[in-house]
Amino acid sequence: PAMLGMLGGGQLGRFFVIAAHEMGYKVAVLDPDRNSPAGKIADVHLCAAYDDETALQSLAEQCAAITTEFENVPASTLEFLAQHRTVRPAAASVAIAQNRVAEKNFFRDSGFPVAPYAVIEQAIDIPAADSGLYPAILKVARFGYDGKGQARVATPEEASAAFEKFGAEVCVLERMLRLDYEVSVVLARDADGNVETFPAAENSHLNGILDVSIAPARGDAAIREQARQLAVDVAQKLNYTGVLGVEFFVSQGRLLVNEMAPRPHNSGHYTIDACVTSQFEQQVRVLAGLPLGDARQHSPAVMVNLLGDIWSRGEPSWDAAYAEPGLKMHLYGKHEARPGRKMGHFTVVGDKADQTLQGALKVRHLLGIRD
Ligand code: ATP
Ligand code: MG
Ligand code: MG
Repeated sequence: PAMLGMLGGGQLGRFFVIAAHEMGYKVAVLDPDRNSPAGKIADVHLCAAYDDETALQSLAEQCAAITTEFENVPASTLEFLAQHRTVRPAAASVAIAQNRVAEKNFFRDSGFPVAPYAVIEQAIDIPAADSGLYPAILKVARFGYDGKGQARVATPEEASAAFEKFGAEVCVLERMLRLDYEVSVVLARDADGNVETFPAAENSHLNGILDVSIAPARGDAAIREQARQLAVDVAQKLNYTGVLGVEFFVSQGRLLVNEMAPRPHNSGHYTIDACVTSQFEQQVRVLAGLPLGDARQHSPAVMVNLLGDIWSRGEPSWDAAYAEPGLKMHLYGKHEARPGRKMGHFTVVGDKADQTLQGALKVRHLLGIRD
């Protein structure tokens, strides 16, 4: 069988490996961590840095096509691999998604609605920025995730202090919005430009980390449709090939694009249990050059993330969770639980949206997850 290549060995890579295996493909994973969740179940685990030339050579030799499960692969890695093999998404798309400045400028210049922001390249850019941005959030341009590398700042003085604390890295200073709620759309776009969108999910965060996703999102159907259309427009504008996650704010009834991920998205995990085709199967399909699968959702679903916090006294007892009908557990097999680390998730599916939400929140509480 053909071998597919995956850059990164986290849980997203692991779900890709499972989907690929189920479809009859082998997978080679490149990840420097010997215990990475995807590396452990891959057919080939190249245990090396993402810019290790020998490992990249080997990946290119063994794989028909290569994708990524995280946005921070060096652009040079994707460009090198693309000289030898099909790489999806393209290096140019990943380069935009991995840099908040490039990403925001791309959204703004393409006419997509975004929160007001200023680019902070050096300390003097802060006093020069529009005072109307405050209260604001200062976000580092590179390598931030799960709210890391972000500081809420009420004044330019606080922004300057946070900028220094972040090591004077390039940042985006963004207006703090009053959010009605947040939604995200995951889609797959193939090399011919065909698109399948999954229903929008409604997301709530705890300490900057995704906590609960409700799918489909509640609220105004027009918002869901607008979000879907905006996500498709973003993918088209990028001439994107692969699975793309787009996050949105809903503020004062208006949709704004927050950020995008050039890969399956945490808020799309519900698709594993609630859609005809999961976001990971779509990733396999796009990479292998197969037609896209049916993204239809067959059951309402609620997903809850399981963070390392509830491992404080060892592995939690899951018995209470398994008493809930329609609950599907997904533990990632990570050895070390740290607070804030994503260790697994569960999804509750059912016939009625309100029952799946009640069930999910009940189990969330029983497992000791506190707001
Ligand atoms: P991810 O793990 O999704 O990549 P991230 O670290 O890139 O997260 P963002 O998506 O920028 O961070 O922000 C994390 C969360 O913080 C958002 O989902 C939202 O809840 C809140 N947030 C971010 N920016 C704003 C803003 N301008 N106004 C209000 N809330 C915000
Ligand atoms: Mg992000
Ligand atoms: Mg985000």
